Amino acid sequence: MSDLNVVSISEAKIPSEPFIACHLIDGSWRESADGETFDRVSPSHASLVTRASRGGTRDVDAAISAARLAFDKGGWSSTSGKDRATILLRVADLVDRDRERIALLETLESGKPISQARAEIEGAADLWRYAASLARTLHGESYNSLGNDFLGLVLKEPVGVVSIITPWNFPFLIVSQKLPFALATGCTAVIKPSEMTPATTVVLGELLIEAGLPAGVVNIVLGYGDPVGTAMTTDKRVDMVTFTGSTGVGKAIVKAASGTLKKVSLELGGKNPQVIFPDADLDSAVDAVVFGVYFNAGECCNSGSRIIVHEDIAEDFIARTVEVSRKVPFGDPLDPSTKVGAIITPGHQQKIDAYVQDAAKAGAQVRLGGAALEVPGLAGQFYQPTVIANVKGEMPIAREEVFGPVLTVLTFRTLEEAIEKVNDADYGLSAGVWSENVHTCLEFARRAQAGTVWTNTWMDGFAELPFGGVKESGQGRELGTYGLEEFLEAKTVTMRIGRTRAPWVDPGVE
Ligand code: NDP
Repeated sequence: MSDLNVVSISEAKIPSEPFIACHLIDGSWRESADGETFDRVSPSHASLVTRASRGGTRDVDAAISAARLAFDKGGWSSTSGKDRATILLRVADLVDRDRERIALLETLESGKPISQARAEIEGAADLWRYAASLARTLHGESYNSLGNDFLGLVLKEPVGVVSIITPWNFPFLIVSQKLPFALATGCTAVIKPSEMTPATTVVLGELLIEAGLPAGVVNIVLGYGDPVGTAMTTDKRVDMVTFTGSTGVGKAIVKAASGTLKKVSLELGGKNPQVIFPDADLDSAVDAVVFGVYFNAGECCNSGSRIIVHEDIAEDFIARTVEVSRKVPFGDPLDPSTKVGAIITPGHQQKIDAYVQDAAKAGAQVRLGGAALEVPGLAGQFYQPTVIANVKGEMPIAREEVFGPVLTVLTFRTLEEAIEKVNDADYGLSAGVWSENVHTCLEFARRAQAGTVWTNTWMDGFAELPFGGVKESGQGRELGTYGLEEFLEAKTVTMRIGRTRAPWVDPGVE
């Protein structure tokens, strides 16, 4: 498609040697006990980026032991909030210092644009700072209302050892949505990044050591869901699992963790609708829709991939969306002007294409794209910006997470019908409405079944605001004070004042 905006001039600084990634266990870098490794090849440049130790049962066992011991001996969990905040703030400064290095590895492993990776690393540093501020606010409750004989206390305590399992789409940002909050409460952790993107979590491990985090508080095991993820979700020494990824694996984790009744927090997929009313600022809406669907090549749980547009403006809206889509710079992720990079694996590219071809066979109209994108000089896999109209609610492309740069367009006539279509989904992560009428926006916000609602915007996020889904999009929340609460347990302490307790057994009875 020659009329697309394809960027292929790379200012590449691809390292000549791969990044060597080892496990971080009890404060030291270790190769796998059985010496196994795996390679990560760049999805855009097809060059070897990372050679990583491949964790086995002995490695994950050692990591869980270290996290358990670090928690139980209390060196971290019983330090003051002030001391924990000091370390988290140091980590934030080190992340800022190493932003370029982290961004380059993130881009090479994930295929995301370098300018976006830089912004994500900057956002991650902000999360470490925010979590540091929360570490000093931890407090429980006291009840001085139980009568003269009692004082009731509710103590907030860290949950314990947390397994953190992260996906490949935002490796550094997602671990930073979880780990600093867990650390702020005094938890210890074992982390498994996706085998597609292990490098930047390992760099984070280096920075944690440099910041002075005690050995064993954070452990990193590289490798696959089986056996590393499985052990992290079944081992009885683990108290909680926090996971971001597919709904299928999320359900498997709930089952696996139920054997020892672990606390489970899940951030899963979405098929996120945006409803566009005729009175909306259409220029703004088109731009946000294009951003929402192509950002991170659509490999984003918050992808705004399901547009529900009023029939009266549908044709005009689709035409404008196609026109703006053509201008989006797709291509070499290392070029700072690129806005959309590569697709994570050839297998995932095929999955995206299969959704598109199946929809076309079922009667949907491919108005733009619908095929692989050739980027001159690059051997990786890319997908064209794709707009699909005439989509029916029952088609898989309207219901399932495509996780690619593919927009599906449905239509509506009334607010009632729009809400019905919004809520006709297994997912409930986020939803959006475009209208100049505040009453329409408010009614939509109240009735949409979603963890987040955006009105006249899309995908703005803040450290202060909780993030998570309803229905099959997950359970629990990240970010904000709600995100902190996930890593806390309440302990009730009931104190009797003086010798006021009436004996249960009469002391006078012989
Ligand atoms: P998965 O959900 O399969 O993987 C996410 C993480 O979970 C990875 O670290 C993975 O390890 C790990 N994992 C896999 N199986 C288990 C298990 N049984 N126990 C514990 N951990 C496990 O995502 P994929 O990477 O395979 O992507 C598949 C689809 O998931 C995508 O097409 C997309 O639809 C969705 N997805 C949603 C994301 C979101 O942000 N909501 C993020 C990523 C994907 P490993 O892969 O290393 O074996």
